[in-house]
Amino acid sequence: MPAKKKSSNKRPKKIQGKLKETEFYCVSCRKRMTSIPDELGVQTFRLKGRNARALRGVCKKCDVNLCKFVKEAKFDKLKDKYGTWR
Ligand SMILES: [Zn+2]
Repeated sequence: MPAKKKSSNKRPKKIQGKLKETEFYCVSCRKRMTSIPDELGVQTFRLKGRNARALRGVCKKCDVNLCKFVKEAKFDKLKDKYGTWR
């Protein structure tokens, strides 16, 4: 039996250009926003049986928690810089 295909016309818009280190895509503002510097930190968690690494922050404008995945190579550098999130 063929699987039903979900319509894919509700995809989130791609962000133009590269995000800066302290920039995130805020789902509330629906655009790229900078985090409150004091709220930045790294976090690791399990995702599909793997360790995932993320940088987290809080939107300057609307106080919503922000999150973006980071590469392992960059993670240690970010941890030294910002510490662990909360
Ligand atoms: Zn926001």
